[in-house]
Amino acid sequence: MTRLIPSQPDTPPAPAIFEAAQERLRRLGARVTQPRLCILACLIGSDEALTHQAVIDRLPGQGEAIDRVTVYRVLDWLVEQGVAQKRAGNDRVFRFSLIEHEAARAEVHRQHSHFHCTRCDRTFCLDDASMPAQPAPPRVPSGFAIEHVELTVNGVCADCGARLPRPPGSTS
Ligand SMILES: [Zn+2]
Ligand SMILES: [Zn+2]
Repeated sequence: MTRLIPSQPDTPPAPAIFEAAQERLRRLGARVTQPRLCILACLIGSDEALTHQAVIDRLPGQGEAIDRVTVYRVLDWLVEQGVAQKRAGNDRVFRFSLIEHEAARAEVHRQHSHFHCTRCDRTFCLDDASMPAQPAPPRVPSGFAIEHVELTVNGVCADCGARLPRPPGSTS
């Protein structure tokens, strides 16, 4: 099988992660089955959100022991249990991640600004040192409370800039 974008090596999770997964299932009061254990361990062990296929690739024995339908069912079950989160990416493919990982990621991304490419729709994290002092927060209607302000710069990323002709009227 060829892979267009090699990301992390598809290695099964470490034993400690299986223990964490087992503990997690017990705390849910759920039956600990092999598929639940393996699939939850994959999510716990991954820094990024995983597609169905990425989960299957990371299962011990490359998912031979757990059929595809079971993987789909267990992932949806983890979402129902509030353990995992399911999101469609820019490519409209569903990706699953552990709720805490997602919360931690959101917290990290709140600490800096972002650049959003309007052509490929990717979002890049910006180094805060490159940013000017935070602008004053906008005024909000009475009764509204600001918790944090995020800055997203919209434009064209380097990849898209190199690949595509410049839009008319572009000066830089
Ligand atoms: Zn970020
Ligand atoms: Zn781009």
